Amino acid sequence: MVLEDLIEGWDGAETVIRFDRPTGTWMFVCVHSTVRGPAGGGTRMATYRAPADGLADAMRLSAAMTRKMAVLQMPFGGGKAVLAVRELPAGEERRGLLLRYGDMVASLGGIFRTAADMNTSAADMDVIAERCRYVYGRSRDQGGAGDSGWGTARGVFHGIRASLGHVFGSEDVAGRRVLVQGVGNVGAELARALAGAGAQVLVTDLVADRAAEVAAATGAALIPAAGALETSCDVYAPCAVGGTLSSRSIPALRCRIVAGSANNQLAAPADAARLRSAGILYAPDYVINAGGVLQDLGLEELGWDRPALEKNLEAIGTTLRGIYARADAEGISTEEAAERLAASRLAAA
Ligand code: NAD
Repeated sequence: MVLEDLIEGWDGAETVIRFDRPTGTWMFVCVHSTVRGPAGGGTRMATYRAPADGLADAMRLSAAMTRKMAVLQMPFGGGKAVLAVRELPAGEERRGLLLRYGDMVASLGGIFRTAADMNTSAADMDVIAERCRYVYGRSRDQGGAGDSGWGTARGVFHGIRASLGHVFGSEDVAGRRVLVQGVGNVGAELARALAGAGAQVLVTDLVADRAAEVAAATGAALIPAAGALETSCDVYAPCAVGGTLSSRSIPALRCRIVAGSANNQLAAPADAARLRSAGILYAPDYVINAGGVLQDLGLEELGWDRPALEKNLEAIGTTLRGIYARADAEGISTEEAAERLAASRLAAA
């Protein structure tokens, strides 16, 4: 796919592209929708085979942000930015790139608001904020909401409770076996929360030392990364990478619920129906992982205090309960039910 075809064929509102000559980086900002308000979405920094792959990623992710904002009833639309770098920059090179990217976002006058995403951090948002005010998730000592992993994990925790209630008739996590795949920012925090609530936590990570550290701190059991998905458990919480739910992996799963933070968990759209046929309840990823967005936008833009944030994080559970009820009533997958909810909220706006 070439850039022109992607841009011509996209159903989003606006594509903004710059080439950053000093670092050889393609900077893509995709504003999918401003129907509900200014477009919000993270800034991802990554290497791609070709610039067009970075643009395609930004387009797909920004459409998902539109659905996420609509389902959450946030007064924002969907957007996403990708900095398609030759290699992940560090030091002054990184700082220069982020400052120039900040100028680019500032020049859009607020139709696009951003935060950290894959390979970007609160410290990076602090640098962008030197040039641009449309940035959230800055460091707490800079007045920002800090790393969004906390809010994301908290939202997943509430989502797991709602999912348990739907499948087992009780939302209590005590004694439930939960496999947390990937114990980075989100997974480690989730493992701590689950263990604290009495769950039997199993952790796995490609970086074995990281998993061992979290296991030691939380009392979780360690599971080798290879074959982890075949572990018998009540809940599989993907908190590592996308695409772990596929025609190959689904038949091997030995869980009743999939509820985790990873983006794009379904390898293909048909995998939602596959999970339903397998009798596995799937918490749509963009709904259950919305806590980070609530944390950033709630604390920094909407004037929420911590109790208001917690109330809104709990509401992720309420939203999921509604989606599960709709899926049952209409005989459709939970993913389809979430899509219908998002579409109706966009139409209402
Ligand atoms: P992270 O990079 O801090 O952690 C990811 C962890 O997964 C790392 O420890 C990594 O070693 C591990 N991992 C990678 N591949 C693995 C594999 N195949 N098996 C086991 N472990 C593997 O990322 P994060 O911020 O914790 O985010 C986790 C996921 O949640 C990502 O998919 C991210 O896109 C998504 N997400 C994060 C947020 C947030 O606020 N941080 C918000 C929404 C969605």
